[in-house]
Amino acid sequence: MEREIIRQLLKLQDIDKKIYQLERKISKYPIEIKKLEEQKKEELKKLESIKEKLKDLNIEKKNKELDIQEKRDKIKKIELSLNNVKTNHEYRELLRQKAILEKEILNIEDNILEIMEKLENLEKEKESLEKEINEKLKEIDEEIEKKNSDLEKSKRELEDLKSLRENLAKEIDPQFISKYELIKSKASDGIVIAIVDNDVCPACFMVLPPRLYSDILKNPEKLFICPNCGRFLCSEENV
Ligand SMILES: [Zn+2]
Repeated sequence: MEREIIRQLLKLQDIDKKIYQLERKISKYPIEIKKLEEQKKEELKKLESIKEKLKDLNIEKKNKELDIQEKRDKIKKIELSLNNVKTNHEYRELLRQKAILEKEILNIEDNILEIMEKLENLEKEKESLEKEINEKLKEIDEEIEKKNSDLEKSKRELEDLKSLRENLAKEIDPQFISKYELIKSKASDGIVIAIVDNDVCPACFMVLPPRLYSDILKNPEKLFICPNCGRFLCSEENV
């Protein structure tokens, strides 16, 4: 009779261990998935900085072009004024100003060329980075997808284990079940029924009183209680 209960309690404990492990695993999924989502954001940020640089350079280029336009307008005005000058001095002064403007325009055009070169390089960099990032994002998405499907699988497994446990618990003498639940609620390591293979309690590591130990050896079909930690003890003959 008690041998059957020992067998059932050991089975119950085994299911409880699996339930515990599965619940821990399930509780970790959201954290792992969140980490992967963060990784995706980090990848996209890399691209943002290049896009930002491109934007700044384009603005700089645009400003320089406007600068040139402005100077060209000034040159036009000077050219018009040249027709109405009264003195040689005035004439030379206007030509001097025009020459300065033309030189400035050449400098700005050089600057624009430099910017265009930078833009071209950045565009190339952006393209290869985009390719790289897209690959990484794809990998991360696949990982997320896998985690989600693993999570669903674990949840189903958990449901199955819980109903298995419920059915098993119904078969066990309620007196033992309530004692089992009581020990379980106090045991942080999940050990409710410990299998004795020497004179030490495998759960709390206290040396068992010699009388109790010899009782366990003599009566492998019986359940005992550890006087120190209160857990069920049974002989290793039951496994
Ligand atoms: Zn103990």
